[in-house]
Amino acid sequence: MISGTKFKMVGSSDYPLCDCCGKTNLTRAVIVENEHAEEFNIGVICASKVLRQVYQGKKLPVSQGAIISMGKEAKASAAWKIRNGYSAPSLAAA
Ligand SMILES: [Zn+2]
Repeated sequence: MISGTKFKMVGSSDYPLCDCCGKTNLTRAVIVENEHAEEFNIGVICASKVLRQVYQGKKLPVSQGAIISMGKEAKASAAWKIRNGYSAPSLAAA
């Protein structure tokens, strides 16, 4: 489970486990950080729910395409990689 009310994108990930729903066969995941600077690896579907955008006064889910491009632009923190024992580069692998 993840906790927090405000999240921001901090990086993309190929780690297949979603910290939000527990799904284990993710093909694309991103890393988000909550207001307590805790980071979570979550799938794009869950990310679209926690990373909301305000549009015309309403808070709306962010599209999955937007999540993926946001993740590519952000970089996972070194602390996250150390904590999770995970350092595979996600962009060079393709
Ligand atoms: Zn999930």
